Amino acid sequence: MIFRKKKEVLDPYSIEQCTSCNKTNKRQFKEGDFIFKTMEKCTSCGSGQIIISKIFGELIK
Ligand SMILES: [Zn+2]
Repeated sequence: MIFRKKKEVLDPYSIEQCTSCNKTNKRQFKEGDFIFKTMEKCTSCGSGQIIISKIFGELIK
């Protein structure tokens, strides 16, 4: 390619949230992640279910 733009790297993150205590955890996006995907049980409150509430990317400079 002749007109090569400087590439901006997108570093994707997933936000996990407990449906019971609303505890959130930000972690690196993993292959297969999607919004509302159910994860493991919440270790904080012990009864809630962790779901992925948000996926976003961050620019690295
Ligand atoms: Zn919880």
